[in-house]
Amino acid sequence: MDGWDNSTKFSPWLSNGCLSVRQIYSDLKAYQAKNGRNESSDWIFFELLWREFFQWNAYIHSAQLFRFRGVKSTPPLTSFYAERFQKWCKGNTPFPLVNASMNQLSRTGYISNRARQIVASCLVNELDLDWRYGAAYFEQQLLDYDVAVNRVYHASLEETHYGKSYLFRGQRPSHRFMLFT
Ligand SMILES: Cc1cc2nc3c(=O)[nH]c(=O)nc-3n(C[C@H](O)[C@H](O)[C@H](O)COP(=O)(O)OP(=O)(O)OC[C@H]3O[C@@H](n4cnc5c(N)ncnc54)[C@H](O)[C@@H]3O)c2cc1C
Repeated sequence: MDGWDNSTKFSPWLSNGCLSVRQIYSDLKAYQAKNGRNESSDWIFFELLWREFFQWNAYIHSAQLFRFRGVKSTPPLTSFYAERFQKWCKGNTPFPLVNASMNQLSRTGYISNRARQIVASCLVNELDLDWRYGAAYFEQQLLDYDVAVNRVYHASLEETHYGKSYLFRGQRPSHRFMLFT
């Protein structure tokens, strides 16, 4: 949906243990030594740092990640509406961008980072659903499922871990499709 060549698609190989970060880092450095640095190759390094952050975060918080309240003291939203959740899973919400992303997820097992943020934010902030259902659905669907990354992102979009996201907050997505940061 957002261009297959816009990112590396390393994630299924990394999360399933078929490829190591050290290998990518070493190849990246070799590439840059030969061809010089550019924005794209620097960006790959930067994205891998995010992955490191989540892996170490999971290591530090370990079982706390799975507690009802996550690592903070704020209790999560616990509301659940079966029909809304089904519509979210099946790409049948009032939001075309969310629907397109959820359809891509069910057909391919992959969506971009931006699409993940949009649909996860929609789940909690627009549909008022407990983030844990969203995290569980991603776990079922994603080819690159990684507990350290997936769970924290879903929780953070509901203010459980790292503060409320700006995605969708108090605004209809149709007004803000491209303003997410
Ligand atoms: C709600 C939500 C759930 C997510 N769940 C997962 C998951 O289960 N497994 C997973 O691997 N990633 C997850 N991500 C992070 C990110 O969306 C994917 O890693 C990325 O889209 C994978 O595509 P790529 O390999 O082409 O990434 P590239 O942009 O090419 O990045 C290269 C590598 O860096 C790492 N990376 C990139 N972006 C991020 C990021 N934002 N946070 C952490 N690491 C990153 C990944 O290992 C990725 O393979 C999630 C993000 C959100 C918002």
